[in-house]
Amino acid sequence: MSTASVSAALARPFAGISEERRRAILTTLVAIFAVLFPLVHNDQGDIDSMANAAIFASLALGLNIVVGFTGLLDLGYAAFFAIGAYTYGILNSFQLHPDWSSFWVVFEHLGLVAKFPGSAGGSVVHFTLSFWIGLPLAALVAASCGVVFGAPTLRLKGDYLAIVTLGFGEIVPIVFRNWASLTNGAAGLNGVGAPHLLGYNFGVNATPYYYVAIVLVGVLIFASIRLRESRIGRAWMAIREDEIAAGAMGVNRTRFKLLAFATGAAFAGLTGVLFIAKLQTATPDMFDFPVSVMILVMIVFGGIGSVWGAVAGAVILQLLQSWWLPQLSSLVDSLGRAIGSPWLANLDFTQGIELIFGIILVFMMLYRRQGLIPAYRPPSALSFEQQHAVVQRGFGELKLSALGSAAGEDTSLTIRGATVKFGGLTALNAVDIDVPTGGVVAVIGPNGSGKSTLFNVITGLVPAESGSIRFRGEEILGLHDYQILERGIARTFQNIRLFPTLTVLQNVMIGQHARLRTGPLGAVLRLPGTRREEKAAIDWAMEIIAIFGNRLTPRAGQSVSGLSYANRRRTEISRALASRPKLLLLDEPTAGMNPAETLELAEQIKALKELGLTVLLIEHKLDVVTTLADTVYVLDHGEVIAYGKPDEVRQNEEVLRAYLGRNAQAATAGTVEAEHVA
Ligand code: ADP
Ligand code: MG
Repeated sequence: MSTASVSAALARPFAGISEERRRAILTTLVAIFAVLFPLVHNDQGDIDSMANAAIFASLALGLNIVVGFTGLLDLGYAAFFAIGAYTYGILNSFQLHPDWSSFWVVFEHLGLVAKFPGSAGGSVVHFTLSFWIGLPLAALVAASCGVVFGAPTLRLKGDYLAIVTLGFGEIVPIVFRNWASLTNGAAGLNGVGAPHLLGYNFGVNATPYYYVAIVLVGVLIFASIRLRESRIGRAWMAIREDEIAAGAMGVNRTRFKLLAFATGAAFAGLTGVLFIAKLQTATPDMFDFPVSVMILVMIVFGGIGSVWGAVAGAVILQLLQSWWLPQLSSLVDSLGRAIGSPWLANLDFTQGIELIFGIILVFMMLYRRQGLIPAYRPPSALSFEQQHAVVQRGFGELKLSALGSAAGEDTSLTIRGATVKFGGLTALNAVDIDVPTGGVVAVIGPNGSGKSTLFNVITGLVPAESGSIRFRGEEILGLHDYQILERGIARTFQNIRLFPTLTVLQNVMIGQHARLRTGPLGAVLRLPGTRREEKAAIDWAMEIIAIFGNRLTPRAGQSVSGLSYANRRRTEISRALASRPKLLLLDEPTAGMNPAETLELAEQIKALKELGLTVLLIEHKLDVVTTLADTVYVLDHGEVIAYGKPDEVRQNEEVLRAYLGRNAQAATAGTVEAEHVA
């Protein structure tokens, strides 16, 4: 039986249960097992292994936010684990013992310090920060370190970021090793206090730590899922999928990358407190590079970006290391002794743990790249009914007011003397363009004439050498891309930039990023206000998608990577419209579409125009330009060589020359059209 038919057979009893119910049942079963485990398997060593597994699951969940959700490769994650651990360790041990003075009385009343007889007869301070205060405090300290470290480095991408984080991960343990007065150096902190709860001292009993650890994992799973399914998580995933498109859709990349970094660091900080409270000691080598790699391996093994995958990966690999392999080793050893083989009798699998992890990873890469529990499942194909469903809504109920602008509002764009240079190349040279309120202005010109560069400079993607771009009277040159979207300019890209692994609906929801308010806390708590906002956002997304009738609506839940070319274009236009723009920039929207699709899209853009939306359009197909545009600007070598009504421009000598080459004589408007409609 193949694996597919095995899993089909296993799934059969659940076939009648909805996806959501199935997930709820599984979660409940896992939770019940986790709660009952120490009661049915009363072995302190194994319970301790399980507590460690839960601790690593917490770490994996934090790193999953950074690497899995946001796509920032962090090779020094254990540094934040260390920072959290030492924050609590230093504040609840004998490491620091300043002389007692009246200054400390307030803290004594708060239970943060105790008076202790010192060696020289006087009294000294003993720090006794409660474990329960240590948790949030360490999370805060680690998150702050994440922000401080991330602010200058998160501009870097890919390999560069990985190397810098690797350096950070190396430096933190080195600092702890050498700052002996604060950390006791390589010997580590000793006598870190155990937690108390309602008068009960956890001491060295593994069970209470186990329960704290599983509660922690539970909370972090909950927070991870809530974050992922919110405005915050969508912004993170947008950055991972396509940074430029994310910025153009209103995501403040710096802020959201920092937020991801800080959230991941906070998870690690929390976990660090629990980890060393359980061990009651902390040494710098507990947080060395291999720990960062191990956590990364766990999420790769479990499925990058998958919350339950991170947990499963961490639990399986940790238990393999601390429970199953030692048990296997001792079995093999006794076998070795029985048959008198000294080699077998001394075999210890845990010595080769790195090799074993390596082999596991190689097999995962070969046979199951997406990990144990993949973050994304390929969508099932549409049924015949879905494909042929008639959802004819079009623009029927859509109003301009639902988009960004009120009737009579100024939505004009005025470009004066815009010049853009790339090194020695002048892509735009002192360009003047006017887009009046409610107008549709087209920009045409040969390839490389600077049309896309014009869009890039309007939307803040490339800087201008000089000039001015005023939108609704306000200078927007020099603003960030996300600020320009906030002001009501949305765009599409010539070579479609969607968020490929996300669904059509998610893509269109990200378009609304700047119009929604939910913050990280709101996302996790999901209070009624947040729910309402989210529901309204989904309704609005579906309303926008419905502009394209049954082209997109039945595919709302499908990932965009599987869509046809024309549908990806439609999704990108929907995403821009979802941001409630006052001015829409379309860069060759009909490129690559067949004549029927071109006609359909031209109709839809015309409907937008009739609603009163202001549109700036780059288009090659002259018949489309003629039907849609009020004014046409012709760019050549970065300069406006002609502008006017479409018919006038088509007769212009210079335009003909630009299109047909400098030496073309006696060209006619007819041939221009033939050339560019084809
Ligand atoms: P169009 O959209 O009209 O085909 P573009 O605006 O894409 O033309 O390009 C105009 C010119 O600027 C081309 O010569 C192109 O190679 C150059 N160019 C565009 N973007 C960049 C960039 N980021 N770096 C360097 N050169 C660029
Ligand atoms: Mg272009």
